[in-house]
Amino acid sequence: MVEVRIENLVKTFGETVALRGVNLHIKHGELFTLLGPSGCGKSTTLRAIAGLDYPDSGHIYFGDEDVTYQHPSKRGAVLVFQNYALWPHMTVFDNVAYGLKLRKAPKEEIEKKVKWALELVKLKGFEDRYPTQLSGGQQQRVAIARALVVEPRVLLLDEPLSNLDAKLRLEMRSEIRRIQRELGITVIYVTHDQEEAMAISDRIAVMNVGTVEQVGTPKEIYETP
Ligand code: ADP
Ligand code: ADP
Repeated sequence: MVEVRIENLVKTFGETVALRGVNLHIKHGELFTLLGPSGCGKSTTLRAIAGLDYPDSGHIYFGDEDVTYQHPSKRGAVLVFQNYALWPHMTVFDNVAYGLKLRKAPKEEIEKKVKWALELVKLKGFEDRYPTQLSGGQQQRVAIARALVVEPRVLLLDEPLSNLDAKLRLEMRSEIRRIQRELGITVIYVTHDQEEAMAISDRIAVMNVGTVEQVGTPKEIYETP
């Protein structure tokens, strides 16, 4: 867990200016939400924090470390995609173990950590299932376990509830909150849904056309005219 500072982030795609100088200070251990309409730059910001795309200018710090151009696997920020992106031909166990195998972790360590991660997301006993044999909510739990098993410093969630029905959305909302509290991990969360942001966040940054317009607690945001 670490604090994240974003300074003057600019990103263009051809003629499109996706980020026009984004500044954010995310405290360690908070659930921080980027809220705003489609196209305002939420995903671009998240991808830059994950290292999946480099900005044109500006800086991203994890604590005192400038991670702006660091390789994604080095910086310890893991992004959970909207569609979960599980590997359909792999079991739940192998999906979750993947990152540890890449790092050539010893077999006993892999088994111990996968067990820990699946217990954390309440999927003990699902090790041998395949993603198609799981509900949407369960698939998302696997995606979260796969992200957390490598013990990231920052967890990035891009519209994590958008593929779930209303009942599961509420359930996974409180599950994400529980997991975040239990680990004390810094979470950066992206949504276009104001009600969802209000319910889940410690603090919210309201974005609009590539800039941050306002930052505050849900109460502060709600009370601003
Ligand atoms: P949000 O996540 O808030 O919906 P995005 O960060 O995805 O917004 O996009 C911000 C802007 O940048 C939009 O105008 C989008 O079309 C554009 N954009 C994002 N990624 C690309 C890309 N790879 N190529 C071209 N334009 C992009
Ligand atoms: P989200 O719904 O999370 O904002 P999108 O579905 O808009 O993401 O975009 C998915 C992917 O396509 C992202 O990698 C994004 O960078 C890219 N993308 C978004 N807008 C454009 C665009 N106008 N042209 C090319 N790629 C884009």
